[in-house]
Amino acid sequence: MKAVNVVKRFTCDELVELITAYLDDALDQPEREGVQVHLAACAGCGRHFEQFRATIDALGDPLPEKLPTDVRDRLMSAFRERHRP
Ligand SMILES: [Zn+2]
Repeated sequence: MKAVNVVKRFTCDELVELITAYLDDALDQPEREGVQVHLAACAGCGRHFEQFRATIDALGDPLPEKLPTDVRDRLMSAFRERHRP
C-alpha cells in the first residue's frame, strides 16, 4: 500500500508569512511542499510569487544570504494588499 504523502495546506494569509522563509530555504520539508502545492493551485499567490522572485533576482547575483529588511517589508505589504478583499 502506498504511503500517503502528508502535505500541509496553507491559506493565502499563512502563505504570506511563509514566503520569505521559503525563499530563504528555512522551511522544513512538509512546509516547503505545502508552499509549492499552494503556489501551483492558487493563481493569485503564484503570480505574486513570480514578482517576488523577480524583485529578489533584481537585487543581484550572488544573492544576499538574507533579504534586506526593507525589501522584505515592501514585498510582504504588497502581498497583503493584493490579498485584501
Ligand atoms: Zn493563495
